[in-house]
Amino acid sequence: MEFFKPMEIKYDSKQVNIENIEKTRCLIIGSGPAGYTAAIYASRANLKPVLYTGLQMGGQLTTTTEVENYPGYPDGITGPQMMEDLKKQAERFGADIRFGIATSVDFSHKTHKVTIDDDKVILADAVIIATGATAKYLGIESEVKYAGMGVSACATCDGFFYRGKDVAVVGGGDTAAEEATYLAGLCRKVYLIVRRDVLRASKAMQHKVLNTPNVEILWEHQTIDLFGDDGVEGATLIKKSGTPEEEVIKIKIDGFFLAIGHSPNSDVFKKFIETDEVGYIKTIPGTTKTNVPGDFAAGDVQDPHYRQAVTAAGTGCMAAIDAERYLSELK
Ligand code: FAD
Ligand code: NAP
Repeated sequence: MEFFKPMEIKYDSKQVNIENIEKTRCLIIGSGPAGYTAAIYASRANLKPVLYTGLQMGGQLTTTTEVENYPGYPDGITGPQMMEDLKKQAERFGADIRFGIATSVDFSHKTHKVTIDDDKVILADAVIIATGATAKYLGIESEVKYAGMGVSACATCDGFFYRGKDVAVVGGGDTAAEEATYLAGLCRKVYLIVRRDVLRASKAMQHKVLNTPNVEILWEHQTIDLFGDDGVEGATLIKKSGTPEEEVIKIKIDGFFLAIGHSPNSDVFKKFIETDEVGYIKTIPGTTKTNVPGDFAAGDVQDPHYRQAVTAAGTGCMAAIDAERYLSELK
């Protein structure tokens, strides 16, 4: 006779083995500064949070070297070290940090269902979404080759390393215009590489960038390659591609900044959670509350404007406090 035959329950027309179902009060999805900070606060509030790290344990900062603008590190710190410290701090207070990816969700009931790795089901009273955003890249091989050696997707983060040097920014939107004018304050010269003959940026940003003397706009140019021995030393561009005036040129630069947009990692939640047209999760202003009671969003996944480690950590803290208040009212 089988005493412990695992029960099977039906969920979204899928059979789920009951051994693979777990209940938790607070589930955190994502292990960047937002997720780990939420875990620190939620653990200290005795919510016993479970955190799933996703594929990139530690988040975007694990792809960078020095972080010099996070408060509290007078000598700077490497991104991977900072994220390891945040993880340890969350574990110190009891956060249960696990490797796994949220592959689907069902937020249609009071208890929120999150499937991990298409296998395990977590039933949570509150969920904090901290899945970040991913910078878009052009898709050329040399971007990968020079990652962290002259290629960056964050001028605020890395511009300082290029003081007095020549750099290029790719893109024609508000981010590109903003990053070009920011870098112009630090660098000798900034090329703005724009693929069309117009900028998509707002009139105000256009005015700013067009009137910054050390920004040179390369209209109708596209980047085909980067070159250099120990890091970026220049870029090969194609002008007016596919026209009779097509021309290949080379520019000498030390830094190459991508500003062609970001993709928030929100796809898995979109059926239930409201986003803007780009995919950033909408939150009630001044809070981390989403349109679904009990689901909160923190960090870059809900932030089209700042996208900094410290703002991500700040909203991670807010999400844990919002979740704690929600859970105390749920009792
Ligand atoms: P992220 O750091 O993006 O982390 C997202 C997390 O979610 C990851 O752990 C990922 O694995 C996880 N995840 C995604 N999808 C899923 C899923 N389906 N299931 C489970 N988990 C999932 N900011 C600064 O303030 N200073 C700097 O110097 C600086 N330098 C930077 C350098 C580089 C190269 C880059 C790319 C960014 C830099 N930034 C810097 C920006 C900063 O990294 C981000 O603002 C910050 O990491 C955002 O934190 P986050 O927690 O929202 O998300
Ligand atoms: P965006 O508005 O989508 O602009 C992306 C830019 O990159 C466009 O100019 C686009 O060119 C270009 N681009 C895309 N793919 C490219 C490629 N493969 N090669 C070359 N160029 C490419 O993105 P964003 O600038 O990050 O802005 C996102 C949102 O945030 C916008 O709503 C923006 O207004 C807002 N924002 C506001 C501020 C502010 O108000 N201060 C600051 C930053 C961002 P095309 O124009 O040819 O498509």
